[in-house]
Amino acid sequence: MLLPEKFLTCVRCEDGLRREEGQTPVPGYGLSNAEVMLIGESPGAEEMKYARPFQGKAGENLNQFLAGVGLNRDQMYIANATRCRPYKEKETLLKNGTVRITKSNRPPSKHAVASCAAWLDMEIQLLAPKLIITLGSTPLKRLLGERSISEVHGNLLTVSIQRPETKEDSREFFWSDELYHVFPLYHPAAIIYRRELKEVFHEDMRKLRQTIEELKITSVIL
Ligand code: SF4
Repeated sequence: MLLPEKFLTCVRCEDGLRREEGQTPVPGYGLSNAEVMLIGESPGAEEMKYARPFQGKAGENLNQFLAGVGLNRDQMYIANATRCRPYKEKETLLKNGTVRITKSNRPPSKHAVASCAAWLDMEIQLLAPKLIITLGSTPLKRLLGERSISEVHGNLLTVSIQRPETKEDSREFFWSDELYHVFPLYHPAAIIYRRELKEVFHEDMRKLRQTIEELKITSVIL
């Protein structure tokens, strides 16, 4: 784990306060010298269970998409914009009079993303990746502010990114002096709900592979 031990007890936002007993925030996972960093949105139930990003169905999806264009997930570092599961609860009254509570994922709040920004920033600074791939709108906005995924997906951007102020209780950002290579993709899960994105996503993945070759990042090519 790249992050310090105190990370494991973080309760800076509402999602941390709602973690289940025994669970910790989910740190990024992968090689500490990885050249490519992949950033998703937030952990779900499976990720909280195993304390690793992109597990279960989401992980399988991601592996398939990457391997499909000859990219190796094991050579990347994978993290999320936030590190505790954002969820909503639904109560259902059963015939026997008991109440069943089910949890479903929801996007993280802006407050949670800003609260978790320091942890992501720490991982980016320690890793200094040659390429950052964002999956979906949440990590894109976390790094680049109000950019629209529909306008920038599938393109290599060389840009300043938002970094959090260093004060512990601050949730403000400043723009980095350094420029980063950022490649935005739709979130693979979005394709399940929006079938029209399937071909777009595959085309973006092909462009990603081409970009990786142009940047000469050979470590992630199968
Ligand atoms: S989501 Fe991030 S900021 Fe919020 S409690 Fe979890 S680790 Fe802390």
